Amino acid sequence: MTPPDAVSPGPDAPPTLYDLDRAALADALAGEPRYRIDQLWEGLYTEGRTLDEITTLPKRLRAELAEAHPVSLVEHVQKRADNDQTVKWLWSLADGDSVETVLMHYRDRSTVCISSQAGCAMGCDFCATGQMGFRRQLGVGEILEQVIRARRAAQPRRLSNVVFMGMGEPLANYDAVWTAIRRIHGDLGLSARNLTVSTVGLVPGIRRMAKEALPVGLAVSLHAATDEVRDQMIPINSRWPIEVLADACEEWTAASRRRLTFEWAMIAGVNDTDAQAVALATLCRRLRAHVNLIPLNPTPGYPTVGSSPARVQEFRDLLRQRGTNATIRQNRGTDIDAACGQLRADTNGATVASPRRRRRPE
Ligand code: SAH
Ligand code: SF4
Repeated sequence: MTPPDAVSPGPDAPPTLYDLDRAALADALAGEPRYRIDQLWEGLYTEGRTLDEITTLPKRLRAELAEAHPVSLVEHVQKRADNDQTVKWLWSLADGDSVETVLMHYRDRSTVCISSQAGCAMGCDFCATGQMGFRRQLGVGEILEQVIRARRAAQPRRLSNVVFMGMGEPLANYDAVWTAIRRIHGDLGLSARNLTVSTVGLVPGIRRMAKEALPVGLAVSLHAATDEVRDQMIPINSRWPIEVLADACEEWTAASRRRLTFEWAMIAGVNDTDAQAVALATLCRRLRAHVNLIPLNPTPGYPTVGSSPARVQEFRDLLRQRGTNATIRQNRGTDIDAACGQLRADTNGATVASPRRRRRPE
C-alpha cells in the first residue's frame, strides 16, 4: 500500500532552489565571496524574497542560480474566498503534476494547509485526492516552497501555523516531510508546536514521530470508532486496525506530552450514529484526545452526503456529555473547492481516475 520513496521530480533531476539547505547553498556558490552566501540566505529565508528581488546579488549570479536550481511551483490557479481570508493555489510542478495549498487567516493566527504528495495511494473514497490515486512523492523543496509562498502572500500578517492536511499522506513520505518540518522550524522560525501532521493512521510513521525531538502536533483521521465502519471508509484500517492504531497514538502522546486530535468527517448514516459517538468517547477518554468534527465536503466521485448541520451539533453534544472535548471545524472556501484535492479535480478533470466503489454499511 505504501508507495515507493520516489524523489521528485525524478532521481536524476537537480535540486530545486528550496531543496538546498545552507550547506548546499554554500556549495552552489563555491568560488563566490563568502558574504554572498549570507546575502542569499537572508534574502530567501529571513526576508522571504524571491531570487529576483535579492538585488544585493549580481544579476549574473541570480541568473546562474535560477538556471541551475529553478523554483518548483508555478502558479496555475489562485482563488480567494471568505473576503480574502482564504486563498487557495493550484500549483503546476516541473513534470506536469499539480498540488494544492490553502492559506487561511483567523483572528488570532494564519495557517497554511500544505500537500505532501501529488495524489494519494490510500484510497479513502470520500476524499477527492484519494479518488485521483497516487501520482508521486513531493520533494523537500516542493513542500517547503508551499510554506514560503503562503508566508509571502500572508504579509503583513505573520504566518504562524502549518498543517499537513492538503493532498497526500505525509507519513507515507516521511523523510521528505520530516526534513521539511526541520527546515520550517529551523530556517523559517515557526514553532514546532504550531506544526501539525495529519495522518490516516500509518502506525509505523506514528511510532517514528513519537521518537522525534521536535514536538510537532499529530492529528489522526479516525472517522470511525469501530473496525466494522472504519474498514468501509479507510482501506488501511485492515492493515492497522483501531486497537493497533490506538496503541501507537498512546505511545506518541506519552512521548510528546501533547494532546492528540482525532479528525472526523461527518457522513450521514455512516459515522454519525449514536453508537459511533459512544465508541468514540470511550476511545477519547483512554487517549485524552480532542475531536475535530469536519462537515463533509462533497466530492464528485462519492455518492454519500454529509450529516446535516443539526446532526453535527447533536453528535458534538453526545461527545461532550461523555466528557470528550469536541469542536466543529469551520468550513473555509467551500465555494472555491478548498477541500482536499478538489480544485485539481475540477480544473484537471481528465486526470481524475474513476472512483472505486466499496460496499457502504446499511
Ligand atoms: N492524508 C492525511 C492528510 C490529508 S487529508 C489524512 O488523511 O489525514 C486531510 C483531512 O481531510 C483528513 O482528515 C481527511 O480525512 C479529510 N477529508 C478528506 N476528504 C474530505 C471530505 N470530502 N470532506 C471532509 N474532510 C475530508
Ligand atoms: Fe489520502 Fe488522506 Fe485523502 Fe485518505 S483522506 S485518500 S489518506 S489524502
